[in-house]
Amino acid sequence: MKKYLFIDRDGTLVTEPHDYQVDALDKVKFEKNVIPALLKLKEHGYTFVMVSNQDGLGTDSFPLNTFTPAHELILNTLESQGIVFEQVLVCPHKPEDNCDCRKPKLGLVMSYLKDTSWDRENSYFIGDRPTDVQMGQNMGITPIRYGAEGLDWDEIADKLTTRARIATIERNTKETKIKISVDLDHSGNSSFDTGIGFFDHMLDQIATHGGISIQAKVTGDLFVDEHHTIEDTGIALGQAILQALGDKRGIGRFGFVLPMDEVYAKVFADCVDDDNVTVALDISGRPHVKFDFDAEFTRDKLGQMPAQMVPHFFHALAVAMGLTLHMYVSEGNAHHQVEALFKAFGRALRVALARHGNELPSSKGKL
Ligand SMILES: [Mg+2]
Ligand SMILES: [Zn+2]
Repeated sequence: MKKYLFIDRDGTLVTEPHDYQVDALDKVKFEKNVIPALLKLKEHGYTFVMVSNQDGLGTDSFPLNTFTPAHELILNTLESQGIVFEQVLVCPHKPEDNCDCRKPKLGLVMSYLKDTSWDRENSYFIGDRPTDVQMGQNMGITPIRYGAEGLDWDEIADKLTTRARIATIERNTKETKIKISVDLDHSGNSSFDTGIGFFDHMLDQIATHGGISIQAKVTGDLFVDEHHTIEDTGIALGQAILQALGDKRGIGRFGFVLPMDEVYAKVFADCVDDDNVTVALDISGRPHVKFDFDAEFTRDKLGQMPAQMVPHFFHALAVAMGLTLHMYVSEGNAHHQVEALFKAFGRALRVALARHGNELPSSKGKL
């Protein structure tokens, strides 16, 4: 579906002069970084439409022969840099003319409003005045007030090209009822209620050290035992993170060290070493899990959480998320062993999820 940016001209693309009329070539001045921003937006699939009020255009107070050269200079300059407008819509009337096309009235954009084929959810009206905001609202799309609270073109381009990485998974079986929400770009605001205190504490390690937000509400058949609750939480959490990742553009892919299916190689000295534990993680789409524990857990149970459910949890999560995951833990106190594994997993996840630019970190073009 086509997504549109309807954009005001004066005060938004070019600077508005004190007398509000861009009627001479030396009054044409582009707003800061508008061209790189529009190029970025174009690269992300937006189509541009200019929507401008030019009060009294064609009358003695604003003759066409003073408007047109400046207007053409604006359009030609933008076009020379690869920015074209599907339509350039101009209302030439004054407020007292009571026309149907002066923003925020809808006359100029009527053909777009009648067309149901474009993506209203992801289209925006960008302008510097309250009437532009009203115009966006009247069109049923989100308005963006350029210049309000310093909102500039760099920020607008960032905002409209960065998808929120959030997801909610609801998973209901006879054994468990689960609702897990994640936000990969915000930390804090996490909550855990699985009915197993120690497990809640461990999930909190993933959120805290992963720098992400997780809300998990799990009602499981704890009257049987803890197995289903822990395993199914792993599955749902893996699904939620995977869904929030979307196409995985811009992510780091690797954790601190480099795993490749059953082979596991430390590539830098800064691998996760937390209480003698190492976690290697790759969001590969080819799940492979390897536990390389030097020692058995020294206790069978941590609070209400069976120690043997620790690898089982990570296995379920890794398979659901398509992770290559190698985990190593050394000998020690069982609580430390388990907590260190969850912390290190969070730390590796933080690096792997961090987003830098828009590149897909795979030579295959797919993850
Ligand atoms: Mg304006
Ligand atoms: Zn008009």
